Parts: sequence; structure tokens; C-alpha cells
Amino acid sequence: MNAKQELIIKNVEAHRQEILDAERWIWQHPQVGYTEWQANEYLIERFEAMGYKLVRADQDPKFGKIPGFYTDVVTGKPGPMLCIMGELDALDIANHPESVNGMTHCCGHHAQAATMLGIAAALKEPGALDGLCGTIRLMLVPAEEMIQLAFREELRKKGTISYMGGKVEFLHRGYFDGVDLSIMVHTANNDGDVEFTCGYGNNGCMSKVITFKGKSSHAGGAPHLGINAQYAAMLGLQACNDLRETLQEKDYIRFHPIMKGVNCAVNIIPDEMVIESYVRGKTLDAMMKENKKFNRALTGAALAMGAGVVLCDRPGYSPETHDPQFMKVVQECCEELSGKDKVKFDYQEWGTGSSDFGDITCVMPGVQFNATGVDGTFHGINFQVTDPAKATVNSAKAQLFVADRLLSNDAACAKKIIADYQPPFASIKEYLDYIQQLVLDKDAVVYDEKGNAAVDFQN
Ligand SMILES: [Zn+2]
Ligand SMILES: [Zn+2]
Repeated sequence: MNAKQELIIKNVEAHRQEILDAERWIWQHPQVGYTEWQANEYLIERFEAMGYKLVRADQDPKFGKIPGFYTDVVTGKPGPMLCIMGELDALDIANHPESVNGMTHCCGHHAQAATMLGIAAALKEPGALDGLCGTIRLMLVPAEEMIQLAFREELRKKGTISYMGGKVEFLHRGYFDGVDLSIMVHTANNDGDVEFTCGYGNNGCMSKVITFKGKSSHAGGAPHLGINAQYAAMLGLQACNDLRETLQEKDYIRFHPIMKGVNCAVNIIPDEMVIESYVRGKTLDAMMKENKKFNRALTGAALAMGAGVVLCDRPGYSPETHDPQFMKVVQECCEELSGKDKVKFDYQEWGTGSSDFGDITCVMPGVQFNATGVDGTFHGINFQVTDPAKATVNSAKAQLFVADRLLSNDAACAKKIIADYQPPFASIKEYLDYIQQLVLDKDAVVYDEKGNAAVDFQN
């Protein structure tokens, strides 16, 4: 460990209690995506008290008001811009024993937010920027979990947001303009002594809202006058399930629908059934190809029952791939902090979950690695942060080690990663234009007066 790394540790340790307090406070104030106002306010207050000038997503005259902000730590010497980000949002999981208003931070994003506070505080300490060039953009991002699709669609229609995920929304708003590379740290399950882990990448996803339309009638006295939207939905899902054997392993496709319930009583034939789902996959092309089959199956099921179906597809998150050269740098920094035996990086491992950090890695080199400190199941009722210092204080140190490595020595390391990187998309604009293909709005089955139907389930 060199003298600068020792200073980083000292600077983070100086704010240890503040970080741990923030971890508990945000855990106790969970809010879901695009409504994380409490955590947002808590962090804004503290960032501003440290003297940071913030660009706030709720005060941007060009866009709707949402939580989240960023601030630039300028070293004073020209060089690349590194973005370090943390997420704000919790999940709807009312049966978690510590849920508040039905929500819990059972993906550990509150730890990321607390960590960002620690990083911001450490960067204000004397000597923190010595030897660095370029800029560090500290960013708090809303809405990583892609949930409450109907609510987000409403926000989109109102013009508050343009995208379901916070990072792609921030890309769209220009908050990543000028950023050259990005890192973030997610929490991970405890695994013996392991402190940091990282895989090669994660599936992307798109979001779907599928609305089967039927006709209500008396369920006992006159079912012949009704059209059962629930049965049409069940048939559609059966067809999608039967298509699974046509999916190819290499594409890592995942389709996991939930039926959102019907708006009526047991003695009424249900006239509507809403399904939410994702289609996940390793590439955008594979997702688009298989999604078309699912939409065809859902359309066919509606037709079979004489029902209708409205298909609403939106871009979700793009597949996330970590630049191996960048990953290696991050790995070395983690090893310098924790020792080789406490760091597990796997350059092949592919995760079937999704993150909107994938949208970032479509346009710049990025690494999302993980800090241990939690037990239980992610998105589950037994999720708990059992070692908050590992999940936050340790994470802050590691991210500052990476920043130091990237931006010291005239940013030689960052410059090499940037120069060697070949992004899947040449620019943010090219990327955002490309994912417009995923937008689909179709009333997929339209009947004529004779009962014949025209189907239309693809653009
Ligand atoms: Zn999650
Ligand atoms: Zn998460």
C-alpha cells in the first residue's frame, strides 16, 4: 500500500460514523424508484453542508422533477472525467419484517447512497486530490429497480421522465455528457472472508405491460355473454411457456410474468387482466427476436378466446459488460486494499439479472463491482445488512483507490482504458436512437363485424 492509499483510508475512516449513520437512516426511509425524495433530501443536505454545488434532477428547467443529483470534484488539472455513482431506490416488499410503508431496501441500494456520502466527505479532506488530474463526478441516481411499470408509464406520459430506468433517463438528460468512464459498487452476499467480487456482465431487459381485454357478465347466470380476460391471459402465458424450449442457452433469455389481478368480484367474468413482465437476454438483438415470439403467442391466445390484448413494450436496461482491462485495474485496487484472498473477480461470469448500469457500459467503459456485507436473499424478506462497514466504509475506500489509480500519473491508466475501449455504440445519441426500436404500442387483435380478426403485434 502506498502513502496515497494510506491517506485515502485515513480520510474515509475520519467519516466512518457518518457513513454508518447514513446507512441506517436510509435503510429506515426506503422509497421506490422516482419517489426517493427522503434519501434525496437527506443526501442533498449533507452534500451542500460540505460545500458541494449540486446539479439537481428536481431543479432542471428542461425536464420533469425526479430525485437524484450530481456534483463535480474538479482537480484543477485537465484530464478525463470519472463518474462514481450510487443508487437511491428501494423495493416494494411489504412482507419484509422491516418494511416501511410496504417498502424495503432489500437490494442494498441504501448502502451505495451512504457510501457516496463517505466518498464525497473523504474527497474534501486535505491532500485528497493531490496528484490527480481530471474530474470526479459524484452521482446519486434514482430508479434502478424497474418496477411499478404502470406508474412509470404514467410519469412518461406526463413528460416527467422519458425512460423507465434512472441511469438511462440521466443519459437522456445529458448528465453523463463529458463522462469518460464510470464505476459503481453494489452490495453482495457475505462469502467467508471475501470483501469484493465482480463478474463479466449481466443480462439486459425490456419491460412489458400486457393487457388482456374481455367482457364482463354474470359468472353463474350468464357466462355465455362474457369473454374471460383471465383465461385468455392464462392461455397466453401457457403458450409463452411452451416456447421456452425454442430459446437458445447462449442468449440467456428470461421471461418472468406476473399477473396483476382483476378488478372485479368472484361472480363476475373478468373483463381485464394485466400482466407485467420483462424479457431479459444477453444481447439486445436476442431480446428483440424472442420478444416478438412472446407477443405473437399472447396475441394468438387473445384471438383464441375472442378477447383483445394491448401490448406495451418499453426499453429496459441494456446488457452490462465490463471492459476486462478496466476490470483488472479495479481488481488490483481491491487487492491492494483487502489482500488477494479476499477478492474474487471472474472474467467469464454472466449474471441473468439486469441493471441500468448496462446502459452506461453501452457508451463508455464501466465496471460495477460488489462489496460484501449482506446476508439473506436479494429482493427477499430475509435480506439484511449484517456488516455495514464492509458494505459502505470498505466500498468507499475501494472506489477511491480506483479513482486514484485512474487519475494519478497524468491519468495514464484512465487514458489507456478509454483509448483501447470499443463501445457498442459510438455516442449516447446513437444508443438512445437504437433502443427506440424496443418501443411498441399495439392493440394486437381487432375484430370486424363478422368476428374475423386482424392481428398486429410487431412494428
Ligand atoms: Zn435489485
Ligand atoms: Zn440492486
